[in-house]
Amino acid sequence: MSTFASQFLQDAGRATDNSDQRRFIRTALGNYEIARDRHKGSFQDWQGARQLAAGIKWEAVNHLDKYLEQFVLKLESRGTKVHWASTGLQARETILQIVRKKKAHSIIKSKAMTSEEIHLNDALEKEGLQVVESDLGEFIVQLRHETPYHIVFPCMHLRRGEISALFQRELGSAPTNDPEELTMIARRVLRKKYITADVGITGANFAIADAGMVSITENEGNARLTAALPKTLITLIGIEKILPRLEDLALFLPMLATMGAGQQLTCYNTLYAGPRQPGESDGPEEWHVVLLDNHRTQLLADTEQRDALHCIRCGACLNVCPIFRNVGGHAYGTTYSGPIGSVITPHLRGLQDWKHLSNASSLCGACTETCPVKIDLHHHLLQNRRNAAQEKPAFLERFAYQIFSLLVTKPALWSLAKKMGRAMQPLHKIIQGTPLDPAKSWTQSRELPRLAPESFKDWWRKRR
Ligand code: SF4
Repeated sequence: MSTFASQFLQDAGRATDNSDQRRFIRTALGNYEIARDRHKGSFQDWQGARQLAAGIKWEAVNHLDKYLEQFVLKLESRGTKVHWASTGLQARETILQIVRKKKAHSIIKSKAMTSEEIHLNDALEKEGLQVVESDLGEFIVQLRHETPYHIVFPCMHLRRGEISALFQRELGSAPTNDPEELTMIARRVLRKKYITADVGITGANFAIADAGMVSITENEGNARLTAALPKTLITLIGIEKILPRLEDLALFLPMLATMGAGQQLTCYNTLYAGPRQPGESDGPEEWHVVLLDNHRTQLLADTEQRDALHCIRCGACLNVCPIFRNVGGHAYGTTYSGPIGSVITPHLRGLQDWKHLSNASSLCGACTETCPVKIDLHHHLLQNRRNAAQEKPAFLERFAYQIFSLLVTKPALWSLAKKMGRAMQPLHKIIQGTPLDPAKSWTQSRELPRLAPESFKDWWRKRR
């Protein structure tokens, strides 16, 4: 078992033992579900919209070379500097070079899961830079030295009281349980940071090929300030974020808001086309766009699972997943958690180290059913399991299946095995849960199913 797998088991066990926390998350997600379903009703034909969105993302991902080229040409024509990064390391180095050249001391960031993916904050802080997250949820988890709990709601695991205590400790504020007052405390701190920051860093929700624009959708206006106030702006974008046409946003913006936050549309939807142009009064003087591959082209080469690149990071599959709802986001130990994280992490970080996440699924299919771009998530989890077993067969598992195959193909042996199983059952009760129990990992938290006193075959034979 990899160290990541045993860590996952430990953390997931601890999280499932905490019934208060599970109830808290269930309530939060229950409210989200009501809002999500109300806004799904605003679509004339929700299933038709999903089909259309899946088709558009299929077109974008299957012609990624063409659309990326179009996007880059348009961006460059308006003075944006575009950088290509094959790996996380390259992306970090590119961004570090830009901030070094600018002799930057402070950086303001808006929410970007790509930056979490490449551990950008660590690299910037090691360089001696002050980095501040401006999204309220990200700001809170940064103060707690934690990673985001959820790709859309980074601090959904925290109660108001915990946030108030954190602000008292870290920011010296007065205690309050009022959400508005808590927001104002963060706002007062952040406003100063926007004004003094040398560089702003954002992610992107969509990269529009035909317009050469970046679309950012948000609720707090923090991404706008991050992009508008510092003289230098850096935007880190995963290459799969491409949409072919500007008009595609008419579908994707309400869809992302509905599935991501249970809103018809988020409060701020901004399109960025380039740095400040002559005659314009605001915007960055310099804009760098870093296009991140980091194993995405490997996933693109996998025709079976390529559609995982269609993901618009709405987080809806996390919200419906019975595993995520119980173990929470931190137990995964990955940037992307929940079903989509379990599908793509083995591609991003290595199959053998992260294959356990594909087993952390009941395969109920709720993720696939909810995904707005129709990614076949639960089948991809099965494919990951198969690929992991083919790549490195587990000796004990293979041996067990060979024995099973022998038993079920020889009726006499099968009958003998059943008789022995029934005879051993009382003995197993004595050793259940002890180190002598061969089924200990199962029986520690579950009952081992009991064999019926007689088989259907024997029962039938007696009655003839
Ligand atoms: S896989 Fe689908 S449901 Fe999950 S985050 Fe991506 S787009 Fe949303």
